Amino acid sequence: MRALNFDNRFVRELPGDTDGINMSRQVYDALWSSVQPTAVAKPRLLAHSPEVAEMLGWTAADIADPDFASVFGGNQLLAGMQPYAACYGGHQFGGWAGQLGDGRAISLGETVNSAGERWELQLKGAGPTPYSRRADGRAVLRSSVREFLCSEAMYHLGIPTTRALSLVATGDSVMRDMLYDGNPALEPGAIVCRVAPSFIRFGNFELPASRGDKALLEQLVDFTIARDYPELQGDTQAKRSAWFMEICRRTGVMIAHWMRVGFVHGVMNTDNMSILGLTIDYGPYGWLEDYDPMWTPNTTDEAGKRYCYGQQPYIGHWNLAHLRDALKPVIADAQVLQAGLQAYADTYSETFGVMLAAKFGIRELSDNDAPWINSAFELLHKSEVDMTLFFRNLADVDVQQPELTPLLPAFYRDDLLQQYRAEWEQWLGQYCARLQTDNLPPEERRARMNAANPRFVLRNYLAQQAIDLATAGDNSRIVELLDTLRHPYDEQPRYAHFAEKRPEWARHKAGCSMLSCSS
Ligand code: AMP
Ligand code: MG
Repeated sequence: MRALNFDNRFVRELPGDTDGINMSRQVYDALWSSVQPTAVAKPRLLAHSPEVAEMLGWTAADIADPDFASVFGGNQLLAGMQPYAACYGGHQFGGWAGQLGDGRAISLGETVNSAGERWELQLKGAGPTPYSRRADGRAVLRSSVREFLCSEAMYHLGIPTTRALSLVATGDSVMRDMLYDGNPALEPGAIVCRVAPSFIRFGNFELPASRGDKALLEQLVDFTIARDYPELQGDTQAKRSAWFMEICRRTGVMIAHWMRVGFVHGVMNTDNMSILGLTIDYGPYGWLEDYDPMWTPNTTDEAGKRYCYGQQPYIGHWNLAHLRDALKPVIADAQVLQAGLQAYADTYSETFGVMLAAKFGIRELSDNDAPWINSAFELLHKSEVDMTLFFRNLADVDVQQPELTPLLPAFYRDDLLQQYRAEWEQWLGQYCARLQTDNLPPEERRARMNAANPRFVLRNYLAQQAIDLATAGDNSRIVELLDTLRHPYDEQPRYAHFAEKRPEWARHKAGCSMLSCSS
């Protein structure tokens, strides 16, 4: 395997806990702990992302080298790697949870590629760390397949996200109570290597702030600005202010994208919010099938629905408010902190507004559009229509002769289609009349819509089918799905079956319609 160039700034420039004792504990005065991955029985590469490999400077031959599975299964380190687990806290489900930290993620180092880009490599499921509390530091195959595929799917959809280099089966079993119903069972273990310029989360700042450790907080803030936001200018205070504004802005853009494609993160705790505005920590996430703002894929969230689809923009604000509180001791200008939250709200509405216009194929939204857009979403909801198929197929409606035909494959229930057919037809007439006032050439309108409305998303049941096959020893579906999701806006007729709406058998099946945090 070709060597990589490592420049591990996080561990070099920030205080760490280096006593190397791998025992669960509270860690003070440090932002990370050194820890070694725990070796696994039989690492085997199940899938990799060719784009991420190339970005790091690796060819197919490097990936095929047996050392590759060994390194990314945690059995071997490359020269220059300095593994560590980060120390952070977080608000979970609305309450302060204290110290959390990388309980099963181990960062291997920061590699700088030939283009000068910095990419941190991080194994998820590589064994216990000082932050594992009573858990095992491992990850199961099902959650690893989901994280691997979804990170890459999101990237190809044009959504800010951490990436995934590899998916390695460990050959070890892991005990999990998948449905939290008192039936623990052994499951195959796996490790994903995640890749991002930075894995720093809101919670990294919240923990020293909660402990009143202003010096440590300040160090982390200035480090993050220097390493992850080098474009910011001015004196220390000016940079910190501009930095907070930029985090707010990026978070707004990210969440607008989630809403555009119907992605529900499922666990928007502040320890799962990236300081770069990247989608991070793919756990019990899900994709809207029939449009339902109250839908949450996370069974732990079923009662409160704090993290359901429709709440995500609000939760983004809530999380930023907690980051703001953590940063108060080090950002002198209180107005800037408030302005950041406003910038979040403004960025979100502007960005989502532009996206909505593109989704419906109109040039620009105006206030007059609110009524018919709201009726569309109401109808989508009450008549159980697949969000992805509806928007994609909407481009096929003939503006001159509006008919429901292209939209029929998006309906889940015949009875609801019949019940709301007249309302839909009326809506369609109104919509097409609106399109005519825009007078966009049909091909331009279709291209605009198709660039905002993917044909392919990682439907919940598709991920589950890939998992079931992989559990039985066949990883071909993972590879095939990854290939499909690399071009989500293209028609790809050979993969048409991956664009179909959820089959009935998947409506209430575990893994397809509901997911627990157990992973
Ligand atoms: P999550 O909800 O997956 O973001 O995880 C919340 C916290 O629990 C983080 O600090 C994780 O590192 C930790 N955690 C989750 N699963 C495990 C595990 N199997 N072993 C150790 N720590 C874990
Ligand atoms: Mg997490």
